[in-house]
Amino acid sequence: MLNGKTAIVTGGVRGIGRAIALELARQGADVAVFYAGNQAAAEQTVAQLLETGVKAKAWQCDVSDFEASKRCVEEVAKELGPVQILINNAGITRDGLMLTMSEEDYDRVLDVNLKGAFHMMKHCYSQMMRKRWGRVVNITSVVGLMGNAGQANYAAAKAGLVGLTKSMARELAGRGVTCNAVAPGYIDTDMTGQLPEKAKEALMAQIPAKRIGRPEDVARAVAFLVSDEAGYITGEVLRVDGGLAM
Ligand code: NDP
Repeated sequence: MLNGKTAIVTGGVRGIGRAIALELARQGADVAVFYAGNQAAAEQTVAQLLETGVKAKAWQCDVSDFEASKRCVEEVAKELGPVQILINNAGITRDGLMLTMSEEDYDRVLDVNLKGAFHMMKHCYSQMMRKRWGRVVNITSVVGLMGNAGQANYAAAKAGLVGLTKSMARELAGRGVTCNAVAPGYIDTDMTGQLPEKAKEALMAQIPAKRIGRPEDVARAVAFLVSDEAGYITGEVLRVDGGLAM
């Protein structure tokens, strides 16, 4: 159980992040959710989190902004206690073939999906080290392992997260802090809702489990990696993809 521990879930007010936040709250953690701009989703998620009996609050915080994310992490520590669990889940897509992909679209995806995780780890890790217990889980993607035409920016960011995860795992292992990644396959959220029907059908045909994943499938894997039982697992990339990227 995670009673008395404070977690931050970035992008925690919709989709996979919300499912993770709720799962951690059910395990007893106090939860801070960071979001980009969807205040209605933030209010709804916080209400759901509070119903579980834990402390919970949302912060509008662009994780790609070093100073803003530092300030928000300090506020979380002051209001909810030292951060011992960090789930870097915030992510965006700006898809396009290399021929048409703008420099701005490349940079933005890297800034949010990869640099944002670096910022958050940098702001949180000393709090975990002081407690000699911490958990970092970075949400990458099977696309970071396999590549995907039309997603060079996204795949580069997600592959980068794997390197970041393994490096931090090595740096922090001796201090009781684990750092792992979870690589979802095709999960039913707003992000994948935007895909054209044809692309969805093509993806489905490649999934041995013959179904789209649910946010809760990912949340349960994250909860396991955060648990005491997973204390000897670090630097791992756990696919949650129904066999898609075997
Ligand atoms: P959604 O688009 O449903 O939700 C994304 C969340 O991230 C939102 O809460 C959004 O905030 C937040 N966010 C976006 N940009 C920022 C930012 N700059 N700073 C802080 N928060 C931000 O995504 P999913 O739930 O589908 O995806 C979650 C993670 O899982 C992502 O990292 C994604 O790449 C990864 N993933 C998803 C897969 C899928 O099939 N869905 C597959 C593999 C990986 P707001 O609500 O305010 O807009």
